[in-house]
Amino acid sequence: MTDDTLTASHGATFKEPLQKNNTAAAAAKIEENIKQQNNIPLNIAITGESGAGKSTFVNAFRGLCDDEEGAAPTGVTETTSEATPYPHPKYPNVILWDLPGIGTTKFPAKKYLKLVGFEKFDFFIIISTTRFTENDVKLAQEIQKMKKKFYFVRSKVDNDIRAERRNRHFSEERTLTKIRDDCVQRLGGLGFESPQVFLVSSFELHLYDFNLLHQTLDKDLPKNKRDALLFVMPNINPEIIRKKKEAFKRRLYWLTTLSAAVAAVPLPGLSIAVDAAVLVGAVTHYVFAFGLDIPSLKRLSDRTGVPYADLQAVIISPLAAVEITTELLLKVMTQVERTATLMAAEGSKQWNEPAHVICSHYFSCAWKCRQLIQDKICSYGVCGQR
Ligand code: GDP
Repeated sequence: MTDDTLTASHGATFKEPLQKNNTAAAAAKIEENIKQQNNIPLNIAITGESGAGKSTFVNAFRGLCDDEEGAAPTGVTETTSEATPYPHPKYPNVILWDLPGIGTTKFPAKKYLKLVGFEKFDFFIIISTTRFTENDVKLAQEIQKMKKKFYFVRSKVDNDIRAERRNRHFSEERTLTKIRDDCVQRLGGLGFESPQVFLVSSFELHLYDFNLLHQTLDKDLPKNKRDALLFVMPNINPEIIRKKKEAFKRRLYWLTTLSAAVAAVPLPGLSIAVDAAVLVGAVTHYVFAFGLDIPSLKRLSDRTGVPYADLQAVIISPLAAVEITTELLLKVMTQVERTATLMAAEGSKQWNEPAHVICSHYFSCAWKCRQLIQDKICSYGVCGQR
């Protein structure tokens, strides 16, 4: 269920209590729906032989460095035959599962999938660092039989590019085409006709096919799961930031309706507190999704070599690179033009405005930050390197 379908199918259930002036009942219903939206599970299985780069991919996807607390251990020889779950640090409803290489378990594909509990996975990513093997193909065929989706990812492409760069007639495009063709040919020889292969470097997610992988997953996923994937996507390009912005805008209607409905509950002292709590939750969500929380900005600084103070210097929002508290939010809100509308909100159009103002702080801030990364960092080829 997307926010749009939520509007269509659930509008009536909220409308009735609102029409009867039962704002508490309406607020409870909206809150329940927002909670449901935020907790939609997404389970992603990452499989491939030992050393293929699974753990590094899991960490990069979760925005963690390999040596950070909670990161999947990398560069270690596999000893377990069980799937290890790695919930996203900010969105624990999204879990990346580091699966043992099928070769290490010595099980046939069908038994392997049973062993790792294939039913719970929304899709599989099969990673290989050199050539896809017969095991990879058997696994893909079995996944297909189970009516699940899988995607072939060729990892460590940065290594290939670096090696080829030494060649006098080097062309990045030609090198990538050669790697892709080689993978496709190999998979074809093993019985997979015209498979799509995504070339990825976990050290440089903003390059090569990682964005294309996201677009493909987005297209293949059921509608109600797309936002869950989008919110955990690293902010590697303006398109992803724009999509996040659109998703948040769609949600604003419900948040501000809830905020206004709760504010109208005639309990002294409750309205403002609950009202602010709803918005603190939403704003914290924006901060995380745009990577504007302090740990994410520090990580960005470490990775890119751009001093933290320089990143901070381009942030204009008072709600970024700080801890979001009710006090801070209320202070900012009262400074924002037309804030009074929030307190006496009447009608859905008016309810939309204050949160929109808050949100625009984020969008402009996120854009400024990304602009800096795009213009000042990526153009120098530093972005994403370690
Ligand atoms: P796993 O056994 O499949 O989990 O593989 P790891 O994630 O532990 O990676 C094995 C080695 O490959 C580690 O030394 C990683 O640093 C390295 N590695 C993983 N992904 C990449 C990548 O995208 N580029 C490069 N250059 N090295 C990578």
